[in-house]
Amino acid sequence: MEILKLDNISSGYSNKEILKNVSFKVQRGEFIGVIGPNGAGKSTLMKTVTRVIKPFKGQIYLNNKNIYCFNFKEIARRIACVRQESFISFSYKVRDIVMMGRFPYQSLLAGESKEDVKVVNEMLKLTDCDKLSDREILNLSSGEKQRVVIARALAQEPEILFLDEPTSYLDIGHQMQIFNLLKKLNKEKNITIISILHDLNLAAEYCDKLLLLNNGEIIRYDLPSNVLDYKLLEEIYNTLVVVKENPISNKPYVVLVSGNRQNK
Ligand code: ADP
Repeated sequence: MEILKLDNISSGYSNKEILKNVSFKVQRGEFIGVIGPNGAGKSTLMKTVTRVIKPFKGQIYLNNKNIYCFNFKEIARRIACVRQESFISFSYKVRDIVMMGRFPYQSLLAGESKEDVKVVNEMLKLTDCDKLSDREILNLSSGEKQRVVIARALAQEPEILFLDEPTSYLDIGHQMQIFNLLKKLNKEKNITIISILHDLNLAAEYCDKLLLLNNGEIIRYDLPSNVLDYKLLEEIYNTLVVVKENPISNKPYVVLVSGNRQNK
């Protein structure tokens, strides 16, 4: 079933068009990686779909309904975001941070409901944050903070989770931990995941499909093996690469080759 559809979207900033005629569909339960060089328009795409910026042209449908027909809380119950700048600069306890994710279900005057507490506990457990729940967020490691920010997004009980480079500050072990968690959420809770990724190998390993953007246009939207084509990557990223097959997962993996593309 189609959960998200972009139809001919043009979007950008104060009339500077960044995304040009972008159209694609996402099925419920898919894990999509958005890739492309710096400045390709990946963050602009995420901001447009999450209603941070309004498109100049085109329509976005969530469950076949125009996203501008939902009110703020209705959207927040369906779409959650983990942005790069999601990190919190005030000292709060982990549990309180995750509780903030319940805002779409709370009214101003009523306090936390039993359901809120139940969901927060579940998400703390799912993200392996239950042992951190009474710790101050500022005292956590980057990997722990990232899990807390994901737990807060999950407390919104979204149908779609958007992430912008969720593992950019993490070592490879913690990168895998976050992606294994995302895959688990994707499979067990059927949450549709759309993540911006710089690491093409993580993208190939975990995503069902990759959307390759360049200059605000979709270059390819397909299975990782059809998107990670060495000629295409060399052209778009202006570098030399070799694409091999991972012998364990049989997914493609990209190896960088030093040297100048012009002298190849
Ligand atoms: P990516 O996430 O792929 O690196 P972005 O979507 O951040 O790309 O940026 C795409 C283009 O939009 C870039 O040329 C960038 O300079 C421009 N841009 C991004 N944010 C703004 C902004 N707030 N105002 C004006 N231009 C912006």
